[in-house]
Amino acid sequence: MEKTTFNRRNFLLLGATASLGLAAQALPPHKNKETKKKKIIYRTLGKTGIEVPIVSMGVMRADNPAILKAAYESGIRHFDTASGYQDGRNEEMVGQYFKDKPREEIIISTKIHPPKEGLSTDQFIEKFDQSLKRLQMNYVDILYLHAATDRAYTLDPRYTEALRRIKESGKAKFVGVTTHSNMAVVLNAAVDSKFYDVVLTSYNFRLKDDTELQNALQRANDAGLGIVAMKNMAGGYLDKEKKKPVNCKAALKWVLSNPLIHTAIPGLTNFEMVKENWEVAQNHDLDEKEKGDLLLAMNEPGLYCHGCLKCSGQCPKNLPIPDLMRSYMYNYGYSYPAKAQSTVAQLNLSHNPCDGCVGDCSVECPNGLNVRERITDIARIKLVPTNFLV
Ligand code: SF4
Ligand code: SF4
Repeated sequence: MEKTTFNRRNFLLLGATASLGLAAQALPPHKNKETKKKKIIYRTLGKTGIEVPIVSMGVMRADNPAILKAAYESGIRHFDTASGYQDGRNEEMVGQYFKDKPREEIIISTKIHPPKEGLSTDQFIEKFDQSLKRLQMNYVDILYLHAATDRAYTLDPRYTEALRRIKESGKAKFVGVTTHSNMAVVLNAAVDSKFYDVVLTSYNFRLKDDTELQNALQRANDAGLGIVAMKNMAGGYLDKEKKKPVNCKAALKWVLSNPLIHTAIPGLTNFEMVKENWEVAQNHDLDEKEKGDLLLAMNEPGLYCHGCLKCSGQCPKNLPIPDLMRSYMYNYGYSYPAKAQSTVAQLNLSHNPCDGCVGDCSVECPNGLNVRERITDIARIKLVPTNFLV
């Protein structure tokens, strides 16, 4: 019998499906259902029972309703926004575009991100009511607690109570939690809660060696949670000068080759992206060139912070390094400086947080990110007048 050894290289060469074969086999058949309608591949979003095309749309960076129109007319049905995107204007655009469309045809998700000082249950509900107004809708399909990085926040009774009340009122059909750092911990907390219906998690080819995440995804599937994937392009570029783009189609195919992921929400900002990403909804098989492109991308640190928190405790100033690295990616990878600035602003740091730290930076990122250089670069964005940014 032929023996196959899996390592970093042949994982990608064989494609994610082969390497994740064991995970796929471990799923009960009803949770691994994949159906094709008009050649589009659908998967079921866990216990919500929602059948959704494997490609959905992250609306975050889109500011032109014509892109929403192109996505909707292509066949995309799940649209993901948040109360914080573009200071609420993103929700307004979604509401404006969909107000005349059959509501039952679309799946709308939004998110509430409590500030550092926290929100009471009532304040959370109030914030969500404002989202509904902007969306011009009576309900959303999924309401997420935004940006969890640990168990305590995921299970914070102020927020779970708010989500419970909102779900009971019918203003959200399902509730979930999103995470782009410490994803395995958040996924496991969501399973343990027996409360959440969906988790929206970072997932891309750079995370392929993260066995804790893989195990947590399997556990979440076994518990019936719907799994939506974001940060699929791992930053979109390998360099801040944008001379080395990630093969985005290949990256999305890699994500969707994993049956534990039910749909992905690539950020779509132009017509070409809509077309290219939607093609993946019909075929997520990686060809040889795409596998090669992902292999090459793996050889460089790129712009994506894995959110692994392996740097925690290394900085004497206890700087929020993953948040700063994510801001760097928003600015240079996503070309979204306004989001980079708002993320940095929430951290309440000076414009030069590493100032006064003598000698070499003591933070060693196992994924090769030059932490000091990136912090020094991105924290200055605080000084840029907001109206200069998009
Ligand atoms: S900076 Fe590096 S070590 Fe820290 S969370 Fe990001 S990838 Fe992990
Ligand atoms: S240089 Fe490194 S150790 Fe010093 S404050 Fe900056 S991140 Fe922390």
